[in-house]
Amino acid sequence: MSKCTHTGQIREVKPAARGCEECLQMGDTWVHLRLCMICGHVGCCDSSKNRHATKHFRSSHHPVMRSLEPGETWGWCYVDELELDFS
Ligand SMILES: [Zn+2]
Ligand SMILES: [Zn+2]
Ligand SMILES: [Zn+2]
Repeated sequence: MSKCTHTGQIREVKPAARGCEECLQMGDTWVHLRLCMICGHVGCCDSSKNRHATKHFRSSHHPVMRSLEPGETWGWCYVDELELDFS
């Protein structure tokens, strides 16, 4: 089984915003929220039309995010393409 090699980069982040930062600026809407575990950036998921969480990874190369949805503890490493468990 492959393992994420980026978990050492994870910090104790607090969500930087109450919603997707870019969508809030644009006045747009999102479906689900994702939290960057490196810097606390909040972005929208790939089911949202703007996909700001993935765009954040592309521009920042911060590899690990988690779901910011209540009750969801899963995360994702964009580099390894592995699901992570933050429960
Ligand atoms: Zn990884
Ligand atoms: Zn967004
Ligand atoms: Zn980040």
